[in-house]
Formats: sequence, C-alpha cells, structure tokens
Amino acid sequence: MKVQLVGTGAIYTKYNSACTLVNQELMVDMPNGTLKQLLKNNHDPEKIKMILITHMHGDHTADIPFLLKHVYNYINIHNEIVIIGPKGIADKVVELFAAYRFEDREEIQELMNIKFIELNKEETEIELEGYKIKAIQVSHGEEKPAYGYNINNALSCTGDSRICKGVEKLIKSSKVTIADTSLIQGNHDHMGIDNIKYLAEKYNKQIVATHLRDTTREVLKKEDNKNILVVEDGYQFEI
Ligand SMILES: [Zn+2]
Ligand SMILES: [Zn+2]
Repeated sequence: MKVQLVGTGAIYTKYNSACTLVNQELMVDMPNGTLKQLLKNNHDPEKIKMILITHMHGDHTADIPFLLKHVYNYINIHNEIVIIGPKGIADKVVELFAAYRFEDREEIQELMNIKFIELNKEETEIELEGYKIKAIQVSHGEEKPAYGYNINNALSCTGDSRICKGVEKLIKSSKVTIADTSLIQGNHDHMGIDNIKYLAEKYNKQIVATHLRDTTREVLKKEDNKNILVVEDGYQFEI
C-alpha cells in the first residue's frame, strides 16, 4: 500500500489537519482544506472510492461536501463513493451540505452516488474493493462514538483518542500506526508523547505521529525515539 499523510497537524497550526490517503483511493478523514491539499499534491480526487471518517468533529469532516461536489458536479464523474463512519454519518453529510447552502437531501441522492456504512458496534469488519477494513472503537473524551481503522492488517489510524484498549488493538494489529499525538502529555481527549513512547516500546511497532500541536511537534522533533516518526505534510511511505 502507498500511504501519504496529507495532513499531520492539529486545527490551530500552520499544518493541514490530520488525514491520510491510501493508494490514491481511500481517505481517512476529510478535514477542512483536504480537497485543496489533494489538488496541490497532484492527486486526482475523483479516484477516491472510500472515505473513512473517525468521528464527527469538524477537523475530520468539514471538506466532505467540497470533495463530493468537486467529483460529482465539476468533473462530472459518477462512480460510487463509500463513506464509512459512526452512526449518523449520513445525516452529518446532509447537515454539512445544508450549512454550506448546497444541495438538500433529495438533491444529494440524485446528484451523487454515495453509499453510507454506519458503524454502531465496538468492532466491525468490512471487506470492500479488495481492502480488509477493521473499525475499532476508541475513546475521544465526550465525542462518542469515535473509531480508529485498521487496513489490511498493515496500517492503522487511531483517529483522535486518548490511550485506550482500542488504540492498543489498532497498534497490535498493524505494522505501522498513524497515531494522534496532539499533546506532550496525554489527557482525556488526546494522546501525548508519553503515551506513544509507551506504546511504541510495548509493542515494538512503528508509530507515525499526527494531529500534532506545534509545541508537541517541536518537542518530539528534538527527541530521538526509536520507532516514532515526526514528518511533514505530504510524507509518503509504502507498506
Ligand atoms: Zn476530535
Ligand atoms: Zn481532531
């Protein structure tokens, strides 16, 4: 799999908010600015077949309407796009369209070929387009439910989460995990450098830090942690 970290930052930083592109066709999260970033990086957004949403916060969902409008309205491609996310994701997309004063529910159905898969269990396995996707519930403060995803038992994305059973499962079941490292010290909502150091050592697995606040990025860059990578937006690797 070819993996690109399209965004590695938290919302109030100069970096793009955390999101990841796999094989040009699968996106994990769709924060504000994602469409522009994909175009800047010379990707073809119309190749995206699947969007995995970790939770409903704006820095993970805000660009869904822009991406869909770009594909269906402006370049007029009508392939099916599957959106997987927490229960309520279909309504959330309608709400976002309404907030942006675009199409209503009927128009969305008419114009766009979208299939929604809503998650409501602690763990769900989905086989789609040759991918084995496992959605595992994580713990992101009061934002419930929130999910992390494992793809082909190789790559995990934790989404936003504190250290919890779900995050440990995601790390255990993958070779590389792109993990929420917002903070220097983890709290109720997000993991910190302390948590990812502990996890990288416990499971001896590679962790790529994302959702970084600027202060966290600076501290982590100065450290030399085996198995932990701090990278810039656009960083690519293969697994
Ligand atoms: Zn969040
Ligand atoms: Zn977030």
